[in-house]
Amino acid sequence: MTTPHLNLIDGRWLPGDHLTENRNPSDLSDLIGHYAAGSAADVALAAEAAARAQPGWWAAGPQARADLLDRVATAIDARATEIGTMLAREEGKILPEAIAETRRAAQIFRFFAGEALRLPGEALPSVRPGVEATVTREPVGVVGLITPWNFPIAIPAWKIAPALAFGNAVVLKPAELVPGCAHLLATILHEAGCPPGVFNLVMGPGSVVGRAMVEAPQITALSFTGSVATGRAIARAGAERMVKLQLEMGGKNPMVVLDDADLPTAVAACLNGAFFSTGQRCTASSRLIVQAGIHDAFVAELARQMQALRVGPALDPASQIGPVVSAAQLAGNLDYVALAATEGCEVIGGARLNGPTEGFFQAPALFLGATNAMRVAREEIFGPCATVIKVDDFDAALAVANDSEFGLSAGICTASLKHATAFRRGAKAGMVMVNLPTAGVDYHVPFGGTKGSSHGAREQGRHAVEFYTTVKTAYSFAG
Ligand code: ADP
Repeated sequence: MTTPHLNLIDGRWLPGDHLTENRNPSDLSDLIGHYAAGSAADVALAAEAAARAQPGWWAAGPQARADLLDRVATAIDARATEIGTMLAREEGKILPEAIAETRRAAQIFRFFAGEALRLPGEALPSVRPGVEATVTREPVGVVGLITPWNFPIAIPAWKIAPALAFGNAVVLKPAELVPGCAHLLATILHEAGCPPGVFNLVMGPGSVVGRAMVEAPQITALSFTGSVATGRAIARAGAERMVKLQLEMGGKNPMVVLDDADLPTAVAACLNGAFFSTGQRCTASSRLIVQAGIHDAFVAELARQMQALRVGPALDPASQIGPVVSAAQLAGNLDYVALAATEGCEVIGGARLNGPTEGFFQAPALFLGATNAMRVAREEIFGPCATVIKVDDFDAALAVANDSEFGLSAGICTASLKHATAFRRGAKAGMVMVNLPTAGVDYHVPFGGTKGSSHGAREQGRHAVEFYTTVKTAYSFAG
């Protein structure tokens, strides 16, 4: 038994209900550690501690909050190799991607350190003479953060940083598969001097810890990233007590390739968007919508480069694609590979692979000859699989791109300004990419989607203030 990693509640490390094993999906013999799994009682303790601590954190003022976030950013950078290695070990992202994600987390903390000082407000003359109206922003209170496994350091960072910057207290529940990054982040926040109760970590199952967070009366706002099914369940339960919600869910992101696209650019964008990070990104390019004239040349080159990708252990410098995150996820991916064939696609790749170690390795896959009505074109797979749909012209491409219950990210590869502009305007998505992969975003601009992909205010950049604050309008008459 390794020394257990505990929950952080009210500034103290507490054991929770039981311990869980954290294992490396690249190498199941690698036991990363034992982590506490909390109970509903732990959530209650954390939420109460947060509610007690929050007014003081707000009263401490923006400089104290900026200073803390800045110290956290510095510590993340200083420990980037350690955190990145943990990320690669527990989630399976290759080490360079894992370190880049860690550095991104530091950038996010640094960005929101600045935003703490720039909390926006307005002062307007009232319609009544002699009266002034001001609009100020205040924290929402205690924010519950429920995060997924696919970006185990960046997503907690982009929720924690704005929450703390704007004077809220936090209860974080990371995904069960990736407690290691969250625990390191909690350690950094604690060591950086975050006051007791201002940040709390409760690890454990969604069905216990997550559910208790949705029900905890002290938690006034919940930010969730994960599956559509869980997002809907949280929305239903949250409606009972009118908790403020921000939900980031799935995608089935279209990438249109027009006849006039630069072939190497289009192939590079699709290879990256569909397969990097093992396709385990909600912004992954999972529907490739390709015009007939370029279709065969594009598919041949993409298939060639896809099959040349080296799949292997996340910590092996030769690997370009790491393992699938878990046995359940791998089984689901393999079911979709079989389904693609059943639905009539020509399948390239997609088989389970043997690696040098026992892990969840899978060859990336293309499903050719698909229609947009097929399940492999409609359902989010969340693995290294892309469905290719051939279309005749731009109008058909845009129509297929928009024919989805999701609307997170949409891309187009074209040399035509006219079509790029028409796509940017016509795409029913929260994010549009031109000659770029659908995945890969900046941190100082909003992130989020339309339709079934997102619900509530946008995350990241200055728009994050919408969710993490509430507005107060005051009128005053000087006499
Ligand atoms: P994924 O398929 O990516 O694992 P989930 O939606 O299952 O997506 O998980 C995302 C996060 O939501 C995880 O932290 C998970 O533990 C949590 N979660 C799962 N079920 C619930 C629930 N009923 N209530 C609250 N949180 C939950």
